[in-house]
Amino acid sequence: MQLTDHIRAIPDYPKPGIVFRDITPLLADGAAFKHTVDTLVARYRDQGITKIVGIEARGFIFATALAYALGVGFVPLRKPGKLPRQVVSQRYALEYGEDELQLHADDITATDKVLIIDDLLATGGTVLAAVALVQALGAEIVECSFVITLHDLPGAERLNQAQIPYYTLCEF
Ligand code: 5GP
Repeated sequence: MQLTDHIRAIPDYPKPGIVFRDITPLLADGAAFKHTVDTLVARYRDQGITKIVGIEARGFIFATALAYALGVGFVPLRKPGKLPRQVVSQRYALEYGEDELQLHADDITATDKVLIIDDLLATGGTVLAAVALVQALGAEIVECSFVITLHDLPGAERLNQAQIPYYTLCEF
């Protein structure tokens, strides 16, 4: 199955000059969504993973399906003000300005083997914030995994420089 056939390019969204990669056709197609999750299950089944961290919001979709299939915990990484207990926080740069991600401080411990999942890797700012949070709690990162990588942007190279294993299902 060609996953890229199920991802639509939306020109000038969310602003002029940006081509947004829309994954909702992939999610709406049962066979394509199942193929996506099954491919991840096959890759991560025997790696001793104990927690899957999903990045708000589209990362949750793949992370929860995979966590359920592997029978391991799901941990949400969220925008500020959404998690009710003690958090660890990490700011990161956007094209214009800054954003922040948070993680419940006791959702991950130093004995965990963690897989980080998001729908798309672009500049790498978001996932590197996720990496910093998981590392701050002392856990091992098995891999950072994406449905899509935009290969003209430096995300994969930044993960490589940080010596974090990386995997993508497709590229544009
Ligand atoms: P980065 O931090 O790597 O520059 O951007 C990746 C984050 O932005 C991901 O959380 C992803 O959901 C979101 N994102 C940026 N561009 C796109 C896009 O074209 N399509 C989708 N689905 N998400 C995007």
